[in-house]
Amino acid sequence: MKKKIAIIGAGIAGLTLANLIKKNSDFEFMLYEKEENLSLDDGFGIQLATNSVSILNKIDFKKINSKDIFHPKDIDFFTIKNEKICDLEISKFNSEYSKYTTLKRSTLIEFLKDEIYTQHLRFGKRIKEVTELKGKVLIKFDDNTNDLVDYVVGADGIFSNTRSFFEKKKNQPSFKKAIAVRSIFNMNHNLDIKVKNISLFMGSNLHLVIYPINKKNELNLVCIIRDKKYDPDNIKSLIERKLLTQNPNFKDLFKNDLKSWPLYSSPKILPSSNQKVFYIGDAFNGFLPTLAQGAGQSIESAYELFNLIKNQNPDAANVYFKKRSERVKIIKRRSDFNFFAFHFSSPVMQKIRNIFLKFLIKRKGFINSYLGTVYKN
Ligand SMILES: Cc1cc2nc3c(=O)[nH]c(=O)nc-3n(C[C@H](O)[C@H](O)[C@H](O)COP(=O)(O)OP(=O)(O)OC[C@H]3O[C@@H](n4cnc5c(N)ncnc54)[C@H](O)[C@@H]3O)c2cc1C
Repeated sequence: MKKKIAIIGAGIAGLTLANLIKKNSDFEFMLYEKEENLSLDDGFGIQLATNSVSILNKIDFKKINSKDIFHPKDIDFFTIKNEKICDLEISKFNSEYSKYTTLKRSTLIEFLKDEIYTQHLRFGKRIKEVTELKGKVLIKFDDNTNDLVDYVVGADGIFSNTRSFFEKKKNQPSFKKAIAVRSIFNMNHNLDIKVKNISLFMGSNLHLVIYPINKKNELNLVCIIRDKKYDPDNIKSLIERKLLTQNPNFKDLFKNDLKSWPLYSSPKILPSSNQKVFYIGDAFNGFLPTLAQGAGQSIESAYELFNLIKNQNPDAANVYFKKRSERVKIIKRRSDFNFFAFHFSSPVMQKIRNIFLKFLIKRKGFINSYLGTVYKN
């Protein structure tokens, strides 16, 4: 009999796994999403390095219209005053088929849902109860429907509700005392940047990243600001107090629609306590966004799990956890270090950091070990 998989959560991780199963196996599967639809209206950007693009290629990523994506070549590093420090050629990790790619999150979700939509996706579903029955898992949802499956995959984000049904140990995400503010703007601005590159500005207790998200002249802006409290009603005043006092030239970039989030990360890497239950994406581990690898790791974890299930590996649970946690440690160390180094408030520390950055960026060995191990495909 065909094995059946329930995927809880239709974000990047859950949808990627669903696509891999649909395209490359004959397992039965169903995606259960708590919302009534997939949020396609927020047009904010996402960066995908070669490690995730090479996996998306296995599910036909090339069919995305080339006008809706961008391949930046370099990251330009600036001080918050818009003085260039140095640049890094990220395209050197590209191959002919997998290139560092930026796009709107909604473009990625549209692509991922394309083959999945009606048949394998149920909306408005939240788990109410789980029980083990004859070697399978019976999931009851709060609309009184149920499903009997061989595997459950929690892909429901950093605050994973699935974990609360299967795990005794809590792994409550911790607020990192930082806020992300995002917007989209077009090419008209008064900054001295190359709009085809990724521009990263480092200031006191904040940093800002600008990058193109398509070939229609739209740029994504994300500003990470350290602040003890998240107050969504006062984001404009936060920008004024923390950023515009350091460089008023950014003012025009924050005129459009702004979206903000408090930043959380997972404190511990914990295994699943049930051999039939797996966690992928942010439900496995949520990262700080300072290495732009959250979505990339969601895609990677879906791919790793898919291969183990497809090959019916009898030790899938242990192999998955071992490989995934090793990978998470590498990404976490770098994301946490960037979060620390991008935000120095002391001018002396900023100067020292900039000298180190200029020096290290020219060292092939350093770049290959700091980024090459992350972007490897
Ligand atoms: C400011 C910022 C910038 C970022 N930039 C980048 C970037 O440039 N590159 C990058 O790679 N990553 C980036 N990320 C991270 C990336 O967006 C996330 O890591 C990624 O989206 C996680 O995907 P996911 O599918 O695991 O979880 P989510 O995207 O959180 O999806 C979870 C899904 O599960 C559903 N769900 C939740 N609870 C339940 C439930 N109880 N039952 C059923 N369904 C449920 C949700 O509605 C949602 O659809 C960024 C994050 C932030 C905050």
